[in-house]
Amino acid sequence: MSVLDMKYIPDQLLTRKTRKVESVTPRIHRLVDDMLETMRFNNGIGLAANQVGAMHQVAVIQLDDWYEPVVLINPKLIKREGERYISEQCLSVPGYVGLVRRSEKVRVRATGLDGAEFRIRADGLYAQALEHEIGHLNGSVYIDHLVSPDKFYKIAHNDEC
Ligand code: ZN
Repeated sequence: MSVLDMKYIPDQLLTRKTRKVESVTPRIHRLVDDMLETMRFNNGIGLAANQVGAMHQVAVIQLDDWYEPVVLINPKLIKREGERYISEQCLSVPGYVGLVRRSEKVRVRATGLDGAEFRIRADGLYAQALEHEIGHLNGSVYIDHLVSPDKFYKIAHNDEC
C-alpha cells in the first residue's frame, strides 16, 4: 500500500466526471488499498478516486468511530430526504471550511469490492460524507454549492494542528 499524492483545487481532475468501473479487478483493489492509506494519512473521513488522480467511480468512507471502512464502487444517490445547512471541509481544499446545503437522509446504491451490489440508508455525518464523495465522482467539489459565496472561511491556524 502507498500514500498517493493528493489533488488540490484548482486541479482540473477534480472537476471531471469519473468513469464507471466495469469489473472489480485487482487494479481496483490496489487503488482502494492506496486510497484508504491516503485517507488515513491525511486524517480524512472520506476520499474519492479523482482526489488522487484516478478517474474511476470509487470512493471510501470511514467515520471516526467505525472499525471498518465502506468501499463504494459506482455509487449512486437514489433518494434524498430533508434539507439542512452544515459546515463542510475537504482534503482537496485544505485550510478552509464552508457552509453547504445537504440532505438529512440519503439512500445510496453501490457495488462492493466483492462485486456485489448493496444499498445504504444514512443520515447525519454519514449522509453528508456520501453526498460529498459522490459529488466528487461527478466532478463537483463542495465549494461549488456553498449556501452563499461569503459562507467560506479560512480555518484559524490552531484548528489545523
Ligand atoms: Zn472532498
